[in-house]
Amino acid sequence: MPELPEVEAARVRLERWAAGRRLDTVYLVDPSSVRTRLSSRPRDAVSDPGSAVGGWVGGVAASPLRHGKRLGWAFGASGLLAHFGMSGKWIARPPGAEVPKFARIGLAFDAGPVCWFVDARRFGCVTVVPAEGLWAALREGLGPDALTACPLGPDLSRRFAVKRPLKVALLEQDRLAGLGNIHVAEALWRAGIHPDRRCDALTAAEWSRLSAAITAQLEAAGADLAGDQELTYLSEGASPNPFSVYGQRERPCPRCGGAIAAAQRGGRVTWWCPGCQPAKSSKHHALGDAG
Ligand SMILES: [Zn+2]
Repeated sequence: MPELPEVEAARVRLERWAAGRRLDTVYLVDPSSVRTRLSSRPRDAVSDPGSAVGGWVGGVAASPLRHGKRLGWAFGASGLLAHFGMSGKWIARPPGAEVPKFARIGLAFDAGPVCWFVDARRFGCVTVVPAEGLWAALREGLGPDALTACPLGPDLSRRFAVKRPLKVALLEQDRLAGLGNIHVAEALWRAGIHPDRRCDALTAAEWSRLSAAITAQLEAAGADLAGDQELTYLSEGASPNPFSVYGQRERPCPRCGGAIAAAQRGGRVTWWCPGCQPAKSSKHHALGDAG
């Protein structure tokens, strides 16, 4: 499922494929993908998608922007916000090539490839936003970006001054933008902190460790996605699981060799290593090699 690293990978690729080129044609393969707001519901589709996206045509593609898991992209005076949902991705195809499977929207420029937003599960969407309001719209309702501006320990603890379990609060995008189920699990494993620990019970040292672990996790995931290969999500079943704990129930922990645990929390599965992530305060817990 796309989280911050996958959206960042899309931003870098779109920049390479199309920035500075004039947008000539918008292919609305699935017009209901154009929504009045960032929403996974087709009933929020705009009534006249053709004219809604018409403002993009003829505009020169700026450098795409990202905040958290949102992508913003301006073409002259108008632009888009993209929400990737469960399976959204941007791929490039040569002009004239067959429309890709699960394509929702295609953007053809005066040179270079056609950029397609494809989304098999259809929880993703785009909205149309004036270019001058794009940066504000991109950040609206979101906390600081988890990759480029993850708060250090003391600031992070203030943003998470709640009694909820860490696993739940770290998914709340208004506190910190960009983490999803995968990278929350991986960052907590790196930090050696149990996902069920309550936010208000962490020590200052644990908040510092968590801040560093979030940055390290997102940087490592981003490095794995560098290049120009087409992204495949684990949920598509086409690639081996590259993660340390996510999806690794009963497999050995890469750090201590113990069996990874998994349990349902609030309707979603949480993974952790009982050896590296003790359920109680880890004040005296010494971390080994975090890999
Ligand atoms: Zn372990």
